[in-house]
Amino acid sequence: MRFEDLRLSAPLLRAIRSAGYRTPTPIQCTAIPHVLAGRDVLGCAQTGTGKTAAFALPILQRLSNGPAHRAAPASRIRALILCPTRELAQQIHDSFRTYGQYTGVRQTVVYGGVNQNPQARALKAGVDVLIATPGRLLDLMGQRLVNLAGVEILVLDEGDRMLDMGFLPDMKRVFAQLPKQRQTLLFSATFSDEIRTLAATLLRNPISVQATPRNTTVEAVDQKCISIERTGKSALLAHLIKDNQWFQVLVFTRTKHGANRLAEYLGKHGVTALAIHGNKSQNARTRALADFKAGELQALVATDIAARGLDIEQLPHVVNFDLPHVPEDYVHRIGRTGRAGATGEAISLVCADDKPLLADIEKVIRREVPREIVAGFEPNPNERAEPIQRGRGGQQRAPQRQAPKREGNEQRRSGQAAAKKTSARPPHAERAAPPSRGEPRNTPRPAKARPADPQRARAAPASTAPRNDASSTVRTNIPGLAPPGHRRGR
Ligand code: AMP
Repeated sequence: MRFEDLRLSAPLLRAIRSAGYRTPTPIQCTAIPHVLAGRDVLGCAQTGTGKTAAFALPILQRLSNGPAHRAAPASRIRALILCPTRELAQQIHDSFRTYGQYTGVRQTVVYGGVNQNPQARALKAGVDVLIATPGRLLDLMGQRLVNLAGVEILVLDEGDRMLDMGFLPDMKRVFAQLPKQRQTLLFSATFSDEIRTLAATLLRNPISVQATPRNTTVEAVDQKCISIERTGKSALLAHLIKDNQWFQVLVFTRTKHGANRLAEYLGKHGVTALAIHGNKSQNARTRALADFKAGELQALVATDIAARGLDIEQLPHVVNFDLPHVPEDYVHRIGRTGRAGATGEAISLVCADDKPLLADIEKVIRREVPREIVAGFEPNPNERAEPIQRGRGGQQRAPQRQAPKREGNEQRRSGQAAAKKTSARPPHAERAAPPSRGEPRNTPRPAKARPADPQRARAAPASTAPRNDASSTVRTNIPGLAPPGHRRGR
């Protein structure tokens, strides 16, 4: 199928061409006609499948075409896109800007952690599309800077993550201000019972569209685990990065404190690294991300929430320094690599404590992740598993769906408990950062990465399963995606 076959308008086709897209992705092929037809859509799609264009293109077309556009008063928000994190909000904003550049549709983005004045000015000037994280949106609604009475289309992007982050009470307060008569699109990478309940209350006779089979691992990612002693992970990671001369490694830790500590360790061992998490100001996060994207940082150490929605072109390596408590987060994490047709590698460092988490993950992705041992970093076969502590709260690992997904020691409130406490909004990621400017970097910037020392004793991987073993590697090509190396629209 071609974009022209989707009956998109000439200004959109022009923008798609200048973004360098050649053919629509599967989720775009299936979702765009339904959204154009005004149907509610329940989309199962991870980031990296082209889902943003799947809703942005038809929304832009609906807003720029037809009688509603001409009739709309000058300052009426006509489409609201809600998403969980600032980074994702910014990316959606960038996408709308790219795709809508020849349409005349006005759009802006609002999220916390930054000065609200420019956002307020943009809103006063009038926007058709508003992209928002729930907390800042509610703040602006409270100040009567946002009126949602004219919203025709609501999009909830990464719905699963919004629920995981405890946004449901905030979301309900937003929904209460929306017209009942509207089109609603809900996108989620995973489909828990909570998401299904939300969909049942929000969507009317929805069409279900799916980019990937439920809870399977993203395409084109080579996955492996390296067994290692609990205390050896940092040294192993520094070794892997230097020995393989990796650049642009996204490393996941379980806690903010762990992210800071690891970035510092890497810095001291010759690897340029910074940590990003919810305690960092938005400016610090944006700067770290920009340095990482520019190739000035070898490693970005992140918690799940901070890394959510990052779109870094052809990120070659993702490392799970700690395995996530919730198996679906593994899918999200490795979705950072192998994006839009590129091939990526996801490596998990697994000690005795992580084994039950690995077993949970393998159940969810329905495959075994091959194990390796790196010579010189052999695991201690006598190491006993210890309960995994969660931040300062010291909680131990809990069963899968009850696990908190907030950063570090932040507690997740259950949906019901959270819904009862309507006065205090949860301390979520976008709220955690003080709106400070010029926050110092958490680690001194070490000198640029040196190439690996060839004299150094080599630690040859003693692979228990070959890396490209077809039986253990997911390598499904996404039809329609541009080949690696091609410039993408963000
Ligand atoms: P998303 O899943 O929306 O985050 O998109 C992931 C990446 O794929 C973004 O960098 C997009 O610019 C890119 N992309 C989206 N649609 C296409 C397409 N049809 N062809 C090539 N790249 C695309």
